[in-house]
Amino acid sequence: MNDIRSTDRKVIVVGGGIGGLAAALALARQGIRVELLEQAEKIGEIGAGIQLGANAFAALDALGVGEAARKRSVFTDYLMMMDAIDATEVAKVDVGEPYRKRFGNPYAVIHRVDIHLSILEAVQVHPLIQFRTATQVRALEQDESGVVVIDQHGERHRADAVVGCDGVKSAIRQALLGDEPRVTGHVVYRAVVDVADMPADLQINAPVVWAGPNCHLVHYPLRGGEQYNLVVTFHSREQEVWGVRDGSKEEVLSYFQGIHPRPHQMLDRPSSWRRWATADRDPVERWSFGRATILGDAAHPMTQYLAQGACQALEDAVTLGAAVQATDGDFTAAFALYEKVRIPRTARVLYSAREMGRLYHARGVERLVRNSLWVGRTQEQFYDALQWLHGWRAEDCLGGAR
Ligand SMILES: Cc1cc2nc3c(=O)[nH]c(=O)nc-3n(C[C@H](O)[C@H](O)[C@H](O)COP(=O)(O)OP(=O)(O)OC[C@H]3O[C@@H](n4cnc5c(N)ncnc54)[C@H](O)[C@@H]3O)c2cc1C
Repeated sequence: MNDIRSTDRKVIVVGGGIGGLAAALALARQGIRVELLEQAEKIGEIGAGIQLGANAFAALDALGVGEAARKRSVFTDYLMMMDAIDATEVAKVDVGEPYRKRFGNPYAVIHRVDIHLSILEAVQVHPLIQFRTATQVRALEQDESGVVVIDQHGERHRADAVVGCDGVKSAIRQALLGDEPRVTGHVVYRAVVDVADMPADLQINAPVVWAGPNCHLVHYPLRGGEQYNLVVTFHSREQEVWGVRDGSKEEVLSYFQGIHPRPHQMLDRPSSWRRWATADRDPVERWSFGRATILGDAAHPMTQYLAQGACQALEDAVTLGAAVQATDGDFTAAFALYEKVRIPRTARVLYSAREMGRLYHARGVERLVRNSLWVGRTQEQFYDALQWLHGWRAEDCLGGAR
């Protein structure tokens, strides 16, 4: 619903990833003009998959793009964890009909290009959003009347407020907080392969995690099952620096010795060997300073072990829009309200993801404990444990904080 009173107000959104597109849309839907600045020359996402919990669909629906995303998603039957050493089942959560009934939305997997495109289509046709590529924000200035961001050409972009959605190495966060990401030392290799190249016994309609000592593997279908997303993760022996570079099959194989032949066969499939050294950040008590705030990975980069980074960015965006509406376009008040709700929630997800990573990579006796944790759990007990995370609802996004 557009609020006509706010159309004279303008916000700059920095970064055109999933978080930035969603934030731009959420603000424009409140009648705010948005200038969206992206450093890349071409708008897009990397060639990999992403998992979306029911909470992501609740957020996508609130942004008006839920159906576009559903059309491009694969709805999975289960979430599965297997022991990568002896190939026994550790946990299996039914995310079919009973999950949908409980949470009101599906669990799905989708190509990152497709989820990005589902939001981008709405951004591109929105009359209040101006999208500029090849524009890298380098600096931020603000005073009581507004903000100015300065790009790589020295051009000054003015607005009433700014939202930094510029990822793990956010320039806006640097200007506001000046803190450093925490390099985890965990390295990820990702690949998308055609179904013909996927071993028949691994063609399972589920995100399957093969949990091994200091390493794990994940696979799930994409694009109607015509492709499969493969991810391998390990604790690196090297001193890592956050970022992407070329790796090698030999490096990967050296970390997956002693793994059962069933998951091990995945390691022969990819033809490209790009490696990502991952990072998160310790949660902080403030994201907003006057007319500037941060969102998505700029605010709370987290390890991928709960598959929630992008889901949380989508929740952030919906909450930001609701906060702007609740404060009648007073951005300083809106950003304070937004962070009051979002900091504790995203910090809980971040800490939980670290704990889940410990379970994924357990060895020795910890592995035995991990494998015994969920024995005999009913589906209802799994759903109860997921309620706080997957049960998020857009209509309650401000909670009692208003
Ligand atoms: C291996 C792995 C698996 C994952 N799996 C999942 C999953 O299954 N489910 C899930 O929900 N999440 C998952 N995530 C997390 C998810 O990928 C991120 O949380 C999400 O993509 C963050 O989106 P974002 O828009 O905040 O940041 P980004 O995607 O990093 O986007 C930032 C954008 O800002 C631009 N930018 C950066 N600096 C500037 C600047 N100075 N000026 C202008 N533009 C700039 C960048 O070019 C980019 O387009 C995973 C992450 C990893 C590493």
